[in-house]
Formats: sequence, structure tokens, C-alpha cells
Amino acid sequence: MHDISPNHPRYHSLLLRDKMAQAYHEGILADTALIAHGRGEAFDYIIGEKTTPPARKAIKTATAALLLAESPVLSVNGNTAVLAADYVVELASLLKARIEINLFYRTPQRVLKVEEVLKNAGATDVLGKEGDDYLPVEGLEGPRSRAHPQGVHRADVVLVPLEDGDRAEALVSSGKKVITIDLNPLSRTAKKSSITIVDNVVRAIPLLINETKKLKGCSRQDLQGILNEFDNDENISSSLNLISQYFKRDEDS
Ligand code: ATP
Repeated sequence: MHDISPNHPRYHSLLLRDKMAQAYHEGILADTALIAHGRGEAFDYIIGEKTTPPARKAIKTATAALLLAESPVLSVNGNTAVLAADYVVELASLLKARIEINLFYRTPQRVLKVEEVLKNAGATDVLGKEGDDYLPVEGLEGPRSRAHPQGVHRADVVLVPLEDGDRAEALVSSGKKVITIDLNPLSRTAKKSSITIVDNVVRAIPLLINETKKLKGCSRQDLQGILNEFDNDENISSSLNLISQYFKRDEDS
């Protein structure tokens, strides 16, 4: 652990970076996870490291979709587990959703480590473990196609933070509502998903928890109303507009 002063202007970002580096050294993350994190950092810098109005709208819509779901599943990769395991566990318990491990570079050792991170955060029911049953998601090959029969495979709504484009597309094609959290509004995942939250998982998942507490008492009709009002392409365009305004402001100053 590096000694980072809380007075450093990039304190929070450096803390997260440190957490990721340590998790890599502990074998929880693949080296490529750090590259993915770096790309996220770049986009987070550009949006001002705060949750934007379009992200808030997507978070509210995602919450409505998760509350309406028959079988909601939170799919967790290494980065999400390292950065937000506690929040994932709390959200799953509020929504009565299953948690399923899904790793891009799946190795038995890394799956065990991610499972341990989730269990340490309080998870008692984790799917996608080594030795668990799985069925293939149509359109995908190899370990990426694994889906637990009681989890992602039968889910109607899946939250997939930091997913890759192919998997997001295959999940949508298999008839699921796919919610992603991805700081890059230009990624294939962002474009292919049903609801795209352009925000950092460390901010978005706590906000999903707050929103779930707020909307829990709403009628199905009201929740459906929230969903009907939302247009994902339009919302992504709003995020892109904010990014271009950021560059414009910088040019003008
Ligand atoms: P795609 O196949 O969707 O185009 P990609 O290949 O560009 O994805 P990956 O390397 O698969 O990207 O995944 C990393 C993605 O996750 C990047 O888009 C990055 O911006 C985003 N990301 C990284 N860290 C975070 C984070 N903490 N919160 C939210 N998004 C993040």
C-alpha cells in the first residue's frame, strides 16, 4: 500500500488505483484488468469524477427494471468485486437478486479469489463458482459463454458492470434486459446494452442502492412508467454532449 496523503488533489482516484494494484499482486485481478481500469480513469477524469444528470436518469431507470424483474442477477467481474463488493452484496440483498461471478480471463484460482472477496463482503450465495453447473449463452464461445442455470441463464434482467461488447450483445440477443455501468459511452457494451449507466461503479452502485430504497414501495405501473420514458441512445448522446462541453470549456479558458 502506498502512502497517499488525503490532501493530494487526486486522493480518491489514487486510492482506487492502489486498491487495484494490490488486488493484482494478490492474484485477484489479471494484468489486463489494470488496463481496463486505466481507461475508466481517463473517462472519469473527463466527466469530472462525479455522477452526471444522464447517469442519474439511467440509474433510476435501471432500478425500476431491477425491481420489475422476475429473476434479477448481478454479474460480477474482478474489477467490480475489488472496487465495490460491499455495495454489490447490499444491492443483491435489497433486490433479492442472485450474484454470479463472470470473469473475462477465467482461471480457477482467480474465480476462487473473487469468490473470497465477495464472501468477505457478506455474500452467502454466489453463483458461477468453480465446479458449478453452467449452460452456454448462445453466440459466445469458451469460458465467456458460461451462465449459471439458476443465474444469468434464466435471468430476465442482468446488471453487468464493465462488460465486454460481445457478451452484452449476446445477452441482449437472448432476450434479457441488460444494464451496464461503463464510464466509456463509446464502448460497444455501452451501445449494445438496454440501459447504460455512464458512471464509475464506486458511485453508481451506492446510488442504485439509494434508488432501490426509494422506489421499493412504487407500484409496478409506476415502475413501468419510468422504464417507458427512457431512451438509451438519447441518454448516451447526453453523456457524449457533456464530454464535448468539457473539451469546449477547456478550449475557451
Ligand atoms: P467493449 O467491448 O464494450 O468496447 P472495451 O474492450 O473497450 O469494451 P474492456 O477493456 O472490456 O473495454 O472494459 C473496460 C471498460 O470498463 C472500459 O470501457 C472502461 O471505460 C470501463 N471501466 C473501467 N473501470 C471502470 C469503473 N471503475 N467503473 C465503470 N466503468 C469502468
